[in-house]
Amino acid sequence: MALGDSLAVANATKYYKKFKAVDNISLTVNKGEFLTILGPSGSGKTSLLKLIAGFEELSDGSILLNNLDITKKKPFEREIGMLFQNYALFPHMTVSDNVAYPLRLRKLSKEDIKQKVRDILKLVHLEDYADRFPEQLSGGQQQRVALARAIVFNPPLLLLDEPLGALDKNLRKQMQLEIMKIQEKVGITTISVTHDQEEALSMSDRICVMNNGKIEQVDSPENLYKHPKNRFVAEFIGEINLIQGDVVDVVDQSAKVKVKDDLIIEVETEKSHSTMKNRPMLIAIRPENIQIAQDASQFHNTLRAEVQNTIYVGESVVLNTKALTGEEITVKIPTYMSDSISNGQEVLLGWNRKDATLILDETPA
Ligand code: ADP
Ligand code: MG
Repeated sequence: MALGDSLAVANATKYYKKFKAVDNISLTVNKGEFLTILGPSGSGKTSLLKLIAGFEELSDGSILLNNLDITKKKPFEREIGMLFQNYALFPHMTVSDNVAYPLRLRKLSKEDIKQKVRDILKLVHLEDYADRFPEQLSGGQQQRVALARAIVFNPPLLLLDEPLGALDKNLRKQMQLEIMKIQEKVGITTISVTHDQEEALSMSDRICVMNNGKIEQVDSPENLYKHPKNRFVAEFIGEINLIQGDVVDVVDQSAKVKVKDDLIIEVETEKSHSTMKNRPMLIAIRPENIQIAQDASQFHNTLRAEVQNTIYVGESVVLNTKALTGEEITVKIPTYMSDSISNGQEVLLGWNRKDATLILDETPA
């Protein structure tokens, strides 16, 4: 099987007429890595993928595959595997003919083609479906055939553009697992595009968050979730509470943040006081990191709040609360701990220094 190569995008810019869809993007994807490009609709994800595939020409910058400049190469010369949402199978060809297609194009021998098609159909668990036509398959099976066709010729790089977008939620989850397993087994370097943050978090080695044609942050799923770099990333991935405040002191990696005269919140930080002094800062706390406290001594930070409404979401309950100091705070607690809580009740919210992170607020409200 193919071993993946590394990809480098250097200062890539794409204009459609006067509109800048990709704005000076630099990004490296390591050999064998699964990188997801995540961003809202219109942020330039597909455009970036098309530049890598060669379907669109760069306005500026370059693209290197395994240190080789492919910027000027035609799509078919790049030998990249692709799977797009609407990358349809040939309806008049059987599964095995569909999968054999890229190999026939490359003029492999009959025996070679037969062997490779058999191997790859086995990999996607469709060895018993070789003689069927696409319309005789389910949506998930069709996508597996398309995936097999995309990787059967051992491409150095696989590009996925929302390939699971058309599938329902359960099937999508199943296919995510399937693609991850296959990607790992084959070791192919993969770039996947999605606007689904859950999909990005669960599938990727690293995630590249895009917005307005620019990269906001490239990081591991865990770092992205725990330490978003800015307001956009914090709000785009998961639920989060953002509280404005001024950092008044930092001692032993613990920042004292003044939110109100009578409200100081402590947050663990690696930043120095001087980098945050006199700048608009946000305390970012995930709802699941806030607990219902019995007394103030349990946590570094506690806050009295009134429960305004409770939303049951299965394994957890979301509480929308309003602090007595005015802040609106969302809390998520396990359902089994929510029995005694009702609307209008006053509760003590508690969390520790390390449960929150500090973000520089470039766009203060
Ligand atoms: P995404 O995949 O993140 O939804 P796209 O890369 O498809 O975003 O599009 C980014 C922006 O570029 C959008 O505003 C879109 O309307 C615009 N755009 C995309 N393709 C073209 C094109 N061929 N001509 C003009 N504008 C385009
Ligand atoms: Mg797109």
